[in-house]
Order: sequence, then structure tokens, then C-alpha cells
Amino acid sequence: MSPQQGIEHVTDKRIRQTLVRMTLIGLAYYAGAWIGVHQTITPEGIAVLWPPNAVLLAAFLVLPFRQWPAVAVAALCAELAADLPSFPLPAALAFGLINLLETSVAAWLIRHFTGGEFSFRHLRNGACFLLFGPLLSSTVAALLGAGVYLALGRADSSYLMLWRLWWFGDALGLLLLTPLFVTLWQRLASRHPLRFSLAGGAELLLLWVATVLIGMLAFVQDTPTQLSFHFSPILLVPLGIWSALRFGVAGATLTVSLIASLAVGHLTRGIYPYPGIEPQDAVWVTQEYLAIVAVLSVGLAILLHEIAQQRLTLIRQDNELKAQNSLLEARIAERTADLEHANQALQQANTQLEKVATTDFLTGFPNRRHFETQAQRELNRLALDQSKAALIMFDLDHFKSINDIHGHEAGDAVLRELVAPVQAALRPSDLFARLGGEEFVILLSHANRQQARHVAERIRDALGALEIVQGTTRIHVSASFGVAQWDGSADLHRLIQQADMALYRAKGSGRNCVMT
Ligand code: GH3
Ligand code: MG
Ligand code: MG
Repeated sequence: MSPQQGIEHVTDKRIRQTLVRMTLIGLAYYAGAWIGVHQTITPEGIAVLWPPNAVLLAAFLVLPFRQWPAVAVAALCAELAADLPSFPLPAALAFGLINLLETSVAAWLIRHFTGGEFSFRHLRNGACFLLFGPLLSSTVAALLGAGVYLALGRADSSYLMLWRLWWFGDALGLLLLTPLFVTLWQRLASRHPLRFSLAGGAELLLLWVATVLIGMLAFVQDTPTQLSFHFSPILLVPLGIWSALRFGVAGATLTVSLIASLAVGHLTRGIYPYPGIEPQDAVWVTQEYLAIVAVLSVGLAILLHEIAQQRLTLIRQDNELKAQNSLLEARIAERTADLEHANQALQQANTQLEKVATTDFLTGFPNRRHFETQAQRELNRLALDQSKAALIMFDLDHFKSINDIHGHEAGDAVLRELVAPVQAALRPSDLFARLGGEEFVILLSHANRQQARHVAERIRDALGALEIVQGTTRIHVSASFGVAQWDGSADLHRLIQQADMALYRAKGSGRNCVMT
């Protein structure tokens, strides 16, 4: 199919749809007018209900604005067809135009103030319909309609009486039937027009059987001479509420229509529910009664629908919130895990950094800075206890020539390998560090000069016995030692200075010896 053909096809379909709708609306309007004229007039000639305007208002409420002209043409044709047998053409035209004006203005106002697609599913929509339909447009239209009746010269009533007759019949028609037509139309146009359970069907049948049975008795005048139960039309109100509670707006509109047809059916046969009053007054009261039943039942159904809808919205929002919450929680858990990882890595790096900062990389011994911090702390502690301490300093002899003869690598190997024998000669509580180069320091807690001297001699012997194998050569080392006793008050640097002086003397005395 070419694009041109496609457009023609769509246009054809639109025209056909519009024609079908026009015919249906025209027929429904005509049927409504026929029922209005032949089935809702009491034997005294009192009109109870005018249904065709409900068809028109429903059509204007659900159809797009561009289809309004077609609806108007269909309604006008139907009005003329219904009226011409009994009214002259100008009067029939006037009635048709009044009805069109009333329903289109009402529909425009309702749609303007409700916005979006109209349906009887929101209280605001119901309220707007009530205000602009039966209460406002009907009242104004009745002013015009009553004028036409007076102009025809047929009416035997006053203008105000005619106005009230027109208004009540018209408003009641809108009130009872517009929600029914709109709801049924939308139901049929929906994807599931008839969703029904067996139990629900049985309940609806029971409800309607009860409505018919009570309605048959309620709208009959009570005769006190016979033994009878007094059924008042009020008894039907709970049934309207039942239908609203259980079957929604559609169920409520259908039940209300059933009640209305029972009431109107009785009135048109001259049977009046309220004893002792004039037929015209009985019609007024029945009209008011039907209006109240309709507003109550359909209004309640709309309210319940809105509450259910809001509940669903709340549940959906709650679910969305929960989903977002768990998403957020998952993200937080992920971030927490990431942070924990980063924290662990940071702690490891810190430990590493601390080790690097406090140890001598060649020997793995504490470095000078670390030694000084720890030794000063130890001296402070010993000062509090009034304990003794001694410091040993030693320096390898002629280390420069080891480097010179065997190479720097060999010198490094010597420095590395002297660690084990030195450590073996010390207690775990002694502090040992490489001061720099080939110079080392040891702080002995709770030791006097003599004990320190013994330790120094032990280390000197161990170093003397050390043999460092480098390839084919064996290297032997010796060291000179200086020992100083802590006087209990002097700071660490003084103590190091004193040991250094002793070491200097050891060097001066031919090396490989201990001086105090
Ligand atoms: P003395 O007996 O008077 O102490 O003589 P010495 O040669 O040991 O003294 P000196 O201070 O003159 O030389 C120390 C040498 O130690 C100089 C330097 O090359 C060497 N040295 C210092 N640190 C290192 C090191 O980390 N590795 C190596 N292989 N040698 C080092
Ligand atoms: Mg040296
Ligand atoms: Mg030196």
C-alpha cells in the first residue's frame, strides 16, 4: 500500500466510524425522545423524565471535540424526527437547539474543569458533572424551553411551572442516565468489557432481584385496609449503596437505572408511592427521591473507586521506594566494601612505611632515628624506676680497606652477616641499632659498666670468630668497642658521646678492644 493509499484508507475508516457513531447516537437520541414522550408521562400528562439529553451529554463528554458537529447533526435530525408529528418545525428546531446548547455547554464546562479524558472515576469529575449538568445547564435550558412552550400557546401552566417541569425532567434524565451511558461506553471500549466472576454474577442477580421485588412493592401506594408490609422507597437506598460497594460505578449506575425505571414505570401507570398527595406532588417527590438515590449510590461508588485508586498509587509508590531503598543499600554496601579494601591497603602501606622509616634497609636493624626515640623512652622509664643502664658503641676496624680490597658488595655482606652473632649476644629487651656506616649502638637496660663490658667482649669474640665467605675469599673482621655507664640523669646524647669517646680511645689503643 502506497502512502497515498494508506492516508485514503485511514480517512475512509474515520468517515465510516463517524457515520456509525452518528447513526448510533441519532437512534439512541430518538429512542430516548420516544421513551420520554411515550413512557415517562403520567396519565395526568405530567412528564417525569427526559432521557435524550443524557445520550447527548454522554456523547459530548467521551467523544473528541472534532466529532461534536457530527453528533449535533445526528441529534438534531433525531429531534426533528421525534417532534415533527406533534410540533411545528420551528418549535421542533428550537427544542433541538436548546438541548444541543445545554448539553454542549455543560460538556465543555465539565471537560474544561476536569481536564484530560472524562470518566466517572473521580469525585471532582462527579462534582463538576452535577454542578454544570443537572444543576446549571438544565436550569438555564429550562428557561428557554419553557419560553418556547408558552410561545406555542399550548401550555395551561405558568411560565415558572413549565420551567420547573422542564428542569426536573431534564436534570433527572442527565443525573440518572449520563453516568450509565459514559460508564457503559468506556467499559465496552475497554480491553476487558466484561470481567465477571460467577460469584459476582450471582450476587448481582440477587441484588437486582431484591431491587425489583422491593421496588414493585415500594412504589405502590399502601392501602391500610389490607394486611400488607409497608415498603417505602427508602428501602431501596441500601441496595443502591450495596451496588456501589460491590460493583463500582458501573454496578451503581445500572442499579440506579433499575430503581428509576421501576419508579417511572409505576408513575406512568398512575400508581403513586406517596399516599394522600396530589399526582403532581407525588411526581416531584419521586423525582427528588431518584435524584438522591443516584447522587448517593453513584457518588459513593466514585468515592470508593478514588480511594482504591489512591491506595494502589500508594502501594506502587511504596514499592518503588522500597526498590530504590534496596538499590541504595546495595550501593552503600558496595561503597563500604570498597572503603574497607582501601582502608586495609592504606593500613598495610602505613605499616610498610613505618617499617621503612624505622629500619635500616641493609641490615634490617632499627635505624638511628628509631633507636634514639626508643632509647630515650627507655631511659625515661628507667629514671622513674631509678634503674641502671649502659651503652655500647662499636665500629668495625679498617672497614674501608675491606671495601677497597674485596669490593663494596663484600662490605655490604659483612654488615649484613654481623647481625646474627650480635643479636645472639643480646637479651630481647636490649636495644640495638645501626648508627650509620659500620658503626653500631646497643642500650642495655638494668646493666652496669661491668656487665656491659662483658657483653661487649662477648660480641667482640663473636665478631672475631665470624668468617664471611665471598666466592673464594674468606673475610675476617674485628671491631673496637666503647662502653659508657648511664648516670641516671643525663640525656641520651650525652651517653652516646661518652661511649663514642671510649670507642675513640679503643681505636687509639690499637683497635679490636673494649674501652669504658
Ligand atoms: P677505622 O678502623 O678507623 O674505623 O677505619 P675504617 O676504615 O673502618 O674507618 P672509616 O670511617 O675511614 O671508613 C668507613 C668506611 O665504611 C667508609 C665507607 O666506604 C664504608 N662504609 C660506610 N657505609 C657502608 C656501607 O653501607 N656499605 C659498605 N660496603 N661500606 C660502607
Ligand atoms: Mg671503622
Ligand atoms: Mg667509622
